[in-house]
Parts: sequence; C-alpha cells; structure tokens
Amino acid sequence: MTKNISVLGSTGSIGVQTLDVAKMHGIKVSALTANRSIDLLEKQAREFEPEMVAVLDHDSAKRLKIALSDTSIAVYSGEEGIKEAARCAQADTAVNAIVGVAGLMPTLEAIASGKNLALANKETLVAGGKVVREAINKTGIKLYPVDSEHSAIFQCLQGCPENSLKKVILTASGGAFFGRTKEQLRNVALKDALKHPNWSMGQKITIDSATMMNKGLEVIEASWLFGVPDEQIDVLIHRESIIHSMIQLKDNSVIAQLGVPDMRIPIQYALTYPERLESPVKELDLSEIASLSFAKPDYDTFECLAVCRKALRLGGLYPTVANAANEAAVALFMQGRIGFLQIPEYVGNAVAQFSGSSDDFGLEDILNADKETRAKILDM
Ligand code: NDP
Ligand code: MG
Repeated sequence: MTKNISVLGSTGSIGVQTLDVAKMHGIKVSALTANRSIDLLEKQAREFEPEMVAVLDHDSAKRLKIALSDTSIAVYSGEEGIKEAARCAQADTAVNAIVGVAGLMPTLEAIASGKNLALANKETLVAGGKVVREAINKTGIKLYPVDSEHSAIFQCLQGCPENSLKKVILTASGGAFFGRTKEQLRNVALKDALKHPNWSMGQKITIDSATMMNKGLEVIEASWLFGVPDEQIDVLIHRESIIHSMIQLKDNSVIAQLGVPDMRIPIQYALTYPERLESPVKELDLSEIASLSFAKPDYDTFECLAVCRKALRLGGLYPTVANAANEAAVALFMQGRIGFLQIPEYVGNAVAQFSGSSDDFGLEDILNADKETRAKILDM
C-alpha cells in the first residue's frame, strides 16, 4: 500500500478528493501542484505540510512563495517546477490529476524517478500511451488507473487468469445531452454542457462528457491499460452510473463493478491496492435505485466517440491529434468562440486531414503533433 504521495493537480476535482482519501488513511503528502489556484494550494499546503509545492504560473508561484514564507515548504514554478514535484524524493507514488496533455511530461518524470503512478490524467495515455508504456517497461513501476471505468475493469480483473479476457465493456452516462438530435445540439450553451447528470467534475471533462469525447478518450485509455484493441472494447450507455464498467471473459461470463458514483472509491483503490479499507462513500442500495437501464451509444450524433475509435484503429499519432484538437476546440467553446457542434467537427477534421503518422515515433513526435494540431485550430 502507498505510504507517501505527490498530488499533481491537487486543487482540481480529483486532486481535492485524493487529499480527502490521504487524510482518511494517514497517507503522507510530500508534494502538491496547481496551475494558478494559489489560495487553495496554500490552504492545502498548511494542512498537509508537504516538502514542496509547485505552481505552473510564475507570478502566482511568486505570490505563493511570499504567502508560505513562514513555513519550510519549498515553492517551485513553471513546467520544471511541476516536474520537480513529480519526482519528489519522499513520495513512493505520484497521483496525476492534472487536466489535459500538460500531464504527460510529469507522468514521464514520475515514472523515470521510479514512482508508482495513480493515473487520473487520461490524456497522458491517449496522447502518449506508447512512450508511457515504454518508460514503464524500463522501470517496472506499477500503474494504477483512477478513472472510474478503468478502475472498475482493473477491479473486475483481479483473480482472472491471464488471457481469459474476451472484451471490456465501458459504461457511459451519456453526458448532459443524451437522447438529443444533432439539430437540438446546435445552439446549446456552455452552462447546459456543464450540467453532468451524475458526476461533479472539472469543466473540461464535463464538456468531454457532453460531446462523448470523454468516452472516446476512455476507449483509447482502456486499450493502453489492458492491451485490448478497438474491437474488444464495447461502449454501453448506462444513465445511472452505478455499474462503473464490466469485463466479459472467454466463457461469456460478465463481471461488473458497482457503487454509488463517487470518485473516492477508485482513487482509494489506486492508493491502497490490493487492500480494501473503509471509505466515506455511501453504501449502494439497489432497492432504492430499483432499475438500471442500458442502451447503445448514438455514434452519428456524438461523433467524437466515433472519431476516437477511428484514431485508435489508425494508431500511431492519430490519437494524439484527436486529443489535441479536442483540447483546443473545448477551450474555444468555453471562450464562446465556437458552437458546441464545432467541437466534433474540429476533432473529425484534424484526424481526417492528418498525414504525418507512422508506427515509428517517439516523444518529440508526440509533442510536435500535439503542438501543430492545437496551433492550426487556435489560429483559425
Ligand atoms: P480540474 O480542472 O478540476 O483540475 C485540474 C488540475 O490540474 C488543477 O489542480 C489545475 O490547477 C491543474 N492544471 C490545470 N492546467 C494545468 C497545466 N497546464 N499544468 C499543470 N497543472 C494544471 O480537473 P479534474 O480533476 O476534473 O480532472 C483531472 C484529470 O482527471 C483529467 O484528465 C480528467 O479527465 C481526469 N478524470 C477526472 C474525473 C473527475 O471526476 N473529475 C474522473 C475521471 C478522470 P488550477 O486549480 O490552478 O487550475
Ligand atoms: Mg471516466
């Protein structure tokens, strides 16, 4: 079991819940990081007394350094500062709860310094799955999924013999706009896209849920985590978010993991594996829920899901490009500069127009493909 963690992205939705879990189980926290939320970061630093904190934004870091000058906590800044936190010597595990591909380099830094990884930052695997796998193979660290679906699959796989897996079944809530037609999606507002039926999460992933890009990213994430190709990954709409995902074994037996939707269960399992400890999460009462529903996803309306599956089948740098296009398009949508349906349009076009992919690529190529795709969209 993990004894000492660094929490990258500690001021976000997953970061805050990770600190909750750490507090409950007496896990020491050695490093905390944020982009610019320094008020919350200062509060966390005073409560958890880490060795160090890091802030991406240099000016915010300067202000935090002054605020924490009565403590012995070191304050770092910029991308180098976040990497410093990722390799923090005291931590045995890095929890990566940064949003977006910005999490990739800290992930690699944590792996290179021999830390186990509790990974919420799915964009790390979508954009850089190949180099992350190579780095893990070199160092032999353990990778624990935090994303609820992938944690569910990981939990279901416990005790199953190797090679017994036939397929994984990722459940999807369907997001804020389940059941709508494309026409009904044309003029949806940001505030509507930010209303998730079951989960309270950061803004980017909530929009990704509304477009179903989130499920597309999760299909690619599952492929890297469990070594399954696109055709062995099913997506099933399950509005209630009670079954967090399932596996089907070779004998057609299906195993599911259930629970009330609360990220503290998957976070805790990633930190306490293989133990099962008490948790503050409510008990599941199925008689109160009464029924669970299932449906096929609508790939025509929620095109991002289809595009991600295509990117996964094409392989190479295509998933990197799909992810980068989505990050740029979601930023534009949040600024009110494009409509909701332009998100899938930009992601689809980026993948359709990309031609620079091969199977032989490395970190530089990933970073370049990400940067070029983003620049093309943001310059439009
Ligand atoms: P939030 O937006 O709530 O938090 C993101 C965290 O990352 C914050 O601490 C933020 O700092 C920091 N951050 C933002 N941009 C950067 C950057 N460029 N470099 C370094 N740090 C940065 O996101 P969530 O907690 O919702 O999601 C985090 C990750 O976990 C995402 O990849 C998401 O897909 C995944 N995930 C989230 C779930 C959830 O329930 N929220 C469920 C499953 C997966 P600041 O506060 O200063 O902005
Ligand atoms: Mg998920």
